[in-house]
Amino acid sequence: MDSREFRNAMGKFATGVTVITTNDGTNTHGMTANAFMSISLDPKLITISIDNKANMLQKIKASGQYAVNFLSDKQQDISMNFAGQKKKEDGVDFGDVQGVPVIKDALASVVCDVDQEIVVGDHTLFIGKVKDVKVTEGNPLTFYCGKYGDYRQKEYA
Ligand code: FAD
Ligand code: NAD
Repeated sequence: MDSREFRNAMGKFATGVTVITTNDGTNTHGMTANAFMSISLDPKLITISIDNKANMLQKIKASGQYAVNFLSDKQQDISMNFAGQKKKEDGVDFGDVQGVPVIKDALASVVCDVDQEIVVGDHTLFIGKVKDVKVTEGNPLTFYCGKYGDYRQKEYA
């Protein structure tokens, strides 16, 4: 199986879209990611998976903390900015939760201290101990088959 076939298969798993944010003491850095998982309630732990070649890797190592921001369907331009797909010319507004930069108007921002760092193949998992969350109303941005989309709520019996 080649990489394209693997990615096509993984793309059949519909996800939301997040931007991971951190500050290494000098600069605020963001990166778009959909490899996110909530993993434990007691203690409250989440994980993200960062490509070992991504600039974000060293930024999180330096700061020891990060936020995961779930994007709304009005924030595709922010996702594209932090994936290096298309620069957002009017800039990005950051907020702050417990000293960690967050994306303003994200559906939720989950703020963590790095609890464990596990190198797995060509990515590194950063397990985060959640120290705060910020939640707003709205609808999610989605990613499916390599394309952005939105979500329409439909109730099933
Ligand atoms: P860079 O390439 O250095 O930065 C990314 C972009 O963000 C650049 O254009 C930069 O100018 C901009 N930027 C950074 N900080 C700021 C700031 N303060 N203000 C304004 N702009 C800023 N990769 C993974 O490793 N894991 C994943 O789970 C993952 N999921 C993805 C999901 C989707 C839907 C997409 C589209 C991409 C995903 N990627 C993922 C790929 C990843 O987003 C890109 O490869 C990204 O460019 C790598 O980021 P980097 O840290 O190397 O940063
Ligand atoms: P795509 O077809 O590459 O993505 C479909 C799915 O494949 C993703 O949702 C993800 O589950 C998986 N995937 C893609 N690249 C991966 C990687 N390097 N490691 C592990 N899983 C990966 O979609 P696209 O529109 O071509 O993606 C845009 C860019 O973002 C590509 O360069 C892609 O590699 C990158 N991306 C990386 C990850 C990741 O590192 N986990 C996830 C999504 C997208």
